[in-house]
Amino acid sequence: MQPVFSVIVPCYNEEEVIRETHKRLTKTMREMGEPYEILYVDDGSRDDTAQILRELSDEDANVRAILFARNAGHQSAVTAGLDYATGDAIVIIDADLQDPPEVIPLMAEKWRNGAQVVFGQRKKRDGETAFKKITASAYYKILAWMTGGMVPRDTGDFRLVDRKAADVIRGMPEHNRFLRGMFAWAGFKQEAVLYDRDKRFAGKTEYTLKKMLKLAADGIFSFSMKPLKFITLLGLGFLGISGILFLILLIALLFGGGSGLWWIAMLMLLCTGCVLSALGIVGEYIARIYDESRGRPLYIVTEALGFEEN
Ligand code: UDP
Ligand code: MG
Repeated sequence: MQPVFSVIVPCYNEEEVIRETHKRLTKTMREMGEPYEILYVDDGSRDDTAQILRELSDEDANVRAILFARNAGHQSAVTAGLDYATGDAIVIIDADLQDPPEVIPLMAEKWRNGAQVVFGQRKKRDGETAFKKITASAYYKILAWMTGGMVPRDTGDFRLVDRKAADVIRGMPEHNRFLRGMFAWAGFKQEAVLYDRDKRFAGKTEYTLKKMLKLAADGIFSFSMKPLKFITLLGLGFLGISGILFLILLIALLFGGGSGLWWIAMLMLLCTGCVLSALGIVGEYIARIYDESRGRPLYIVTEALGFEEN
């Protein structure tokens, strides 16, 4: 039967939680009373996750599993889920029960009322280190500023998206994926559901600092050209200061003052300013090449009225 809901669960070394996750997800999805599929994506786990997923798919007709040949990363696992999901509404949820499945019915209700992307926004983060809380909060502020407020704060990938929005994301071939940014960029009718993020049920996080930094960089560099603009601004700033210094030194020269050291300082500022401005100009071209090479769609149609259905 064609499922209404698809639930994508990316899993990497989650042998300790996956059965519990399956139990809780199944309970929630059953209570919602509509056909559903749970799509587990094993991201090249080195423990027994794949074996457990094989068993689950034998036991439960609602289970589908995709097994990766190697670890490709969380964002790639979710992307595969989007490619294989067949439901009208697609839920993305972590395997470790940090995102409570019980929030899904609230998301579905907003979807029924017309929202096309319902993202979970974290009220509280339980059981996370002070380091994670502080860096996450600072990062979301910087990201919001860099992207002109496009990416909502304190949202991860826990969300429910309409098929239409999912299809747009599937049509974006970029490799350095920051899905929450891509959904924000795509637009559509977006709504938030506030929730408390729980502790990890068992096991340990596989999001290493390195993976986290890569994700953070993708968020900024894939959705903001501001870093390139800083170079130009810095260059122009240096040129401006060297210009002012030049005038001051000229006046000082008229009155017989101004040491050679100041002239050297002025020349250094001039040179640095020229180099940085030139880099900024090169950066503008690179930004355009980057923009073209990502191959993002120029526009996204949410409805076309008065056309024949085919
Ligand atoms: N995950 C994945 N591939 C990875 C790392 C993590 O698919 O390389 C999955 C993991 O199984 C979980 C989700 O991504 O479902 C979030 O990971 P984790 O809980 O380790 O990260 P945290 O919650 O600490 O940010
Ligand atoms: Mg987690």
